[in-house]
Amino acid sequence: MKRLLAVVLCLVIVLLIGLPALLIRACGGTEKIPPPPDSDDEPLSQPDGELTLTIYQHQSGELLELTLEEYLVGVLAAEMPASFALEALKAQAVVARTYTVKKMPAFGGTGCDKHPGADICTDSTHCQAWQSQAEARARWPQQEAAGYEQKLRTAVRATAGQVITHEGKLIEAVFHSTCGGQTENSEDVWSTAQPYLRSVSCTYCSGSRWYKTTHEVSSADFAAAVVPYVAAVPVSASGRALLGSAHRSASGRIKSLLIAGETVSGRDFRTALKLPSTNVQWEIKEDKIIFTAQGYGHGVGLCQYGAAGLAAAGSSYPEIIDHYYTDVKVTSLPAP
Ligand SMILES: [Zn+2]
Ligand SMILES: [Zn+2]
Repeated sequence: MKRLLAVVLCLVIVLLIGLPALLIRACGGTEKIPPPPDSDDEPLSQPDGELTLTIYQHQSGELLELTLEEYLVGVLAAEMPASFALEALKAQAVVARTYTVKKMPAFGGTGCDKHPGADICTDSTHCQAWQSQAEARARWPQQEAAGYEQKLRTAVRATAGQVITHEGKLIEAVFHSTCGGQTENSEDVWSTAQPYLRSVSCTYCSGSRWYKTTHEVSSADFAAAVVPYVAAVPVSASGRALLGSAHRSASGRIKSLLIAGETVSGRDFRTALKLPSTNVQWEIKEDKIIFTAQGYGHGVGLCQYGAAGLAAAGSSYPEIIDHYYTDVKVTSLPAP
């Protein structure tokens, strides 16, 4: 009886002292651990490989079946330089997973509306870029290939099943290469103002070659380039006569401008001149127009080069995500 009492006493002591110590250890890491999901959207922690995707490969026209996590390795390979710091790749993995899952009909999405039967396509201008391992290996420097592939797998595995939500719902996890100093509000690029896609300042992408670029165009080439967007381009007009005032968003990107007296959208202007962004200033010198562009891409959501800059300065992937998406949580994938 005495012995039994002693054993019970020992167990109680172990539980009283040991358990809190274990809990403290589990919570005391230096890395910021994603907050627990809301109790009202009870998570189903999706182990690797549980969700399967049907992918339309736009180059071959073939459908491919892959698990979500395996697919994401190919998205990272195609969408972000593998040389970027691991925390930036992890942030991109969570962003790409969120973007993908939101598209899936199983989660209430529309799938790829261009290719019926596919959850998503590999056309970066429509859904999300993706590369097979063989394609990625052929593109990477030979001596880096094995290490890069391992790094991408680590980024996906370390964030397995994690997505970004705002008020319990998956966000439109859009991203771009380089914001050039300030990201953009969603309504200044598309029609909808998303509370989590707010303009934030970002100087972390200053290492990108797209941070500030100049593009010289002759007045004649400019006139030819805008022909599809302007009803009447005067023959032999100078740059000064062609380019009028611009209406800009708060971040400085052109929403619309006057070209030969007609209103052209910032997006069409960028397309016509093949400029990297709509954040453009210009200077006219004789028969030349010198455009200075800041950033590359639409500027909404995650700035990829900014993520790399933040990661290099010691930010963790949840901190990177927090910077570019307002009022969001990194959480486990909800049930389909
Ligand atoms: Zn698509
Ligand atoms: Zn940036």
